[in-house]
Amino acid sequence: MVAPVPPGAPRPNNQQYPGPPNFYPGSQGNSNALADNMQNLSLNRPPPMMPGSGPRPPPPFGQAPQSFPQHSPAYGVPQRGPSPMSRPGPPAGLARPGAPPPVSQPAGFLSNVPLNRPTGPPSSQPPFGSRPSMPGGPVAQPVASSSGFPAFGPSGNVAAGPPPGARPIAFGSPPPVGSGMSMPPSGMLGGPVSNGHQMAGSGEFPRGTQFPGGAVTTPQTPYAQPPSGPFPRTAPSMPPPATFPGAPHGRPAVSGLPYGPPSAQVAPPPLGFPGPMQPPRYGMGPLPNQSMTNIPTAMGQPGAAAPGGPARIDPNQIPRPGSSSSPTVFETRQSNQANPPPPATSDYVVRDTGNCSPRYMRCTINQIPCTVDLLSTSGMQLALMVQPLAQSHPSEEPIQVVDFGEGGPVRCSRCKGYINPFMKFIDQGRKFICNFCGYTDETPRDYHCNLGPDGRRRDVDERPELCRGTVEFVATKEYMVRDPMPAVYFFLIDVSMNAIQTGATAAACNAIQQVLSDLPEGPRTFVGIATFDSTIHFYNLKRALQQPLMLIVPDVQDVYTPLETDVIVQLSECRQHLELLLDSIPTMFQESKTPESAFGAAVKAAFLAMKSKGGKLMVFQSILCSVGVGALSSREAEGRANMSAGEKEAHKLLQPADKTLKTMAIELAEYQVCVDIFVTTQAYVDMASISVIPKTTGGQVYCYYPFSALSDPPKLYNDLKWNITRPQGFEAVMRVRCSQGIQVQEYLGNFCKRIPTDIDLPAIDCDKAVMVTLKHDDKLQDGAECAFQCALLYTTIFGERRIRVTTLSLSCTNMLSNLFRAADLDSQFACMLKQAANEIPSKALPLVKEQATNSCINALYAYRKFCATVTSTGQLILPEALKLFPLYTLALTKSVGLRTDGRVDDRSFWINYVSSLSTPLAIPLVYPRMISVHDLDVKDNEGAVLPPPIPLSSEHISNEGVYFLENGEDGLLYVGESVDSDILQKLFDVPSAAEIPNQYVLQQYDNQLSKKFNDAVNEIRRQRCSYLRIKLCKKGDPSGMLFLSYMVEDRTASGPSYVEFLVQVHRQIQLKMN
Ligand SMILES: [Zn+2]
Repeated sequence: MVAPVPPGAPRPNNQQYPGPPNFYPGSQGNSNALADNMQNLSLNRPPPMMPGSGPRPPPPFGQAPQSFPQHSPAYGVPQRGPSPMSRPGPPAGLARPGAPPPVSQPAGFLSNVPLNRPTGPPSSQPPFGSRPSMPGGPVAQPVASSSGFPAFGPSGNVAAGPPPGARPIAFGSPPPVGSGMSMPPSGMLGGPVSNGHQMAGSGEFPRGTQFPGGAVTTPQTPYAQPPSGPFPRTAPSMPPPATFPGAPHGRPAVSGLPYGPPSAQVAPPPLGFPGPMQPPRYGMGPLPNQSMTNIPTAMGQPGAAAPGGPARIDPNQIPRPGSSSSPTVFETRQSNQANPPPPATSDYVVRDTGNCSPRYMRCTINQIPCTVDLLSTSGMQLALMVQPLAQSHPSEEPIQVVDFGEGGPVRCSRCKGYINPFMKFIDQGRKFICNFCGYTDETPRDYHCNLGPDGRRRDVDERPELCRGTVEFVATKEYMVRDPMPAVYFFLIDVSMNAIQTGATAAACNAIQQVLSDLPEGPRTFVGIATFDSTIHFYNLKRALQQPLMLIVPDVQDVYTPLETDVIVQLSECRQHLELLLDSIPTMFQESKTPESAFGAAVKAAFLAMKSKGGKLMVFQSILCSVGVGALSSREAEGRANMSAGEKEAHKLLQPADKTLKTMAIELAEYQVCVDIFVTTQAYVDMASISVIPKTTGGQVYCYYPFSALSDPPKLYNDLKWNITRPQGFEAVMRVRCSQGIQVQEYLGNFCKRIPTDIDLPAIDCDKAVMVTLKHDDKLQDGAECAFQCALLYTTIFGERRIRVTTLSLSCTNMLSNLFRAADLDSQFACMLKQAANEIPSKALPLVKEQATNSCINALYAYRKFCATVTSTGQLILPEALKLFPLYTLALTKSVGLRTDGRVDDRSFWINYVSSLSTPLAIPLVYPRMISVHDLDVKDNEGAVLPPPIPLSSEHISNEGVYFLENGEDGLLYVGESVDSDILQKLFDVPSAAEIPNQYVLQQYDNQLSKKFNDAVNEIRRQRCSYLRIKLCKKGDPSGMLFLSYMVEDRTASGPSYVEFLVQVHRQIQLKMN
């Protein structure tokens, strides 16, 4: 099928284009490399054992090292689970007010109206029921491009049944459309809620005769051994500045009694890694947790940072991040105390000894202030960063699944908190006291166990729910309201003239085609596809048809859809139709002259087709939505013209244009449809308006601007693949509970919230984080424990309904100095970042910057005033745990979202990206990692793949050097003016910088330098779980300026240098002191 190549299109023919260039050049041909690198998770695979047939297997995200299926034959693993992926409908139980009434399908459509598509003759088979009086209804056309769409005989050779080994569907049939559409009950995680299928009966699990209530899966392996060989060793961090005694960054220096004995801080690094461990110190005497630098007051004048200038401060002596430390084992609790976690970005292996892993939940302060006054005095934020499905380290023990049988998990009868290691059993085990509300409950009879001499239940160590910070409970019928729905993947592709001509359509089709084999195999995986320009085109993929029918929905104002059963079809039934259709779409539309896009209407139409089941809607969009429902105007240009209107107009552009898409998004969320948008564009698309849809539905926006058909298809493919294969759950509802005295103030992230206590997540994956801010409603007792519990009710990709319960218990303190010792820099900063991003669209930018700076100053001031013993006014004294806070605050004020010189869409994307950003990625976003590339082959980095990072200051950039900078999303490769031609030859295969193509594609050449650079990039991709969009930046052109804009330690138009900023901070603190 050879067809003319549309301008700009990379490949109409799949055979000429065997797939996106592999991101992992070291293993050419392995297009799964990204996935292979991502921790070898067991994804989209059935659990090894049927529920009910024996000990419960680890959960699907159970870290059992298992490589990804290799490309084509894909799902060689027969489905043994109940279904590969099914999800129940919205939990009903207590119907929420305002639930939409059941919506029935539109009656039918005019059929067979030929439109001027390059298609074949109309089908003689009316695909829809009739809807006679509906002019403008969808019309059907067989899909047959001028190049001829291959016809399928009714007896097509697609295997009819489920694949070998597939089990019959274990669920009831889906309810009629509209049933079970009531909202999750307000008590969702508070009261029984239903969803999903019934789990195995109680008798099927082995359980102790004494305790019939709680069958428990015992861990299959003991604790993971201390990591050894496979751990990447990183080079030691840059030597800590002499003026900053205490632990280098990478390990919060903790000292003092609340943390137990010295050895209890962090378990020693295994195998004698030297690591940056500092001997912990006790007591407050010499204030070991304090960092100091001398900043003479006289040097506040501008220019202080200039090397050789009047500054007497050595820029090399100020706090800077080091490289990540050697891997350590982190025990969450020791000696009945919480251990403060290692930095979020460091390499650590967690042993859950009662508190949850910090990957799942992290508090901004690892001790809780007893009073609101103490908290406000500290100037710090109290918040939790929650990432309930975060990926764990491969060496960590899998989360254990506990099945309490029909009774369901033991819970407090008053606050509905779930049983956890901090509930106290009394009265010979007959009663237990809830650690959240303090209520005393009777222990259920079948859960009773005697207490030992230490006052603990004798079975504590055998029951994960009593000794682990994170467990998963099997949800009973009470947590389900309708049978799990099949997994639905719907692809919506822009085929407007622009999308076709830039190659975006072809890239999308190619990426989808390649990930089809990654979708869960089996009879319960459904797919659908539609294309859109100024109209919407569905495709009937039923095998019985001779050829796929194109079904056109021309009315983009009042949208309706073809019959769901025609356009959403079992993958096994339509795979061949689908593959050929994907091959043909770019050529079918190659003559298209339609410049409009009915994006909003297309999303709405796809939603109508999906609403009875829910599922994932993946939209590939190239141009601004210009017609139909939710049409937008090119207001960026208008905004530019109105620049005189000032800041007020400017930030209007960061708000959605109107409420249409938000209303639609809430409806999508109600019906459990999660939307991801892949923006492959070369122009303004009004990101602020469209991103509301993914944000409300638990989805994500991907941005490829300006789209390049040469360099972007590999990222598009890798992003789509990771989107589908990463650990994830559906139909989720989440709630955080706190001990008395503290309550949740606000949730921030990508979700839909209909009641105050719970958030609804049509989908949630391992990358998504939710910030939960906390407030006091009472005093806490000094020395007591305050607990937080996140309960996530969700459906696994195998159709199992689970409750992941994550509990963190921290001690309360009346001492300000304890709060500063226990401050968690990474989550403090993530919290500040998210609050700033959240406020940008509604507040004047200078105000947002000022708030960020003030919150940094307030914390440092509180420390200086109340905790530091040094009285010299000439010293800026920083708490060890927060010594990098000023640097990151400065970087934040210079970041894309807080600058006005960039595109409005870039800022909107940034705001949206931050909204669900995980803690480990928060700092790199504003303070990226930079490494030198030109000397990778000569420097000995002690075996580490990545050299130590370089400070983000232009004085560290040499004209002879090549540097790579990454922030978890983008990678910038900077080439200086006078780079040795031998180095250029090795890295780029050209002798001079001028000859390097601007549309750069990373390649590996046969030399050590190139190999090491590729290894470094791949290591970063692995660490970030992100395929970076690599741009080439050359000194002397705009791309070079882009690179230099990341040098946040320099003085720039958007702010002072790092040294100047420290001086400013110091002055402000002094002003406050006086
Ligand atoms: Zn309670």
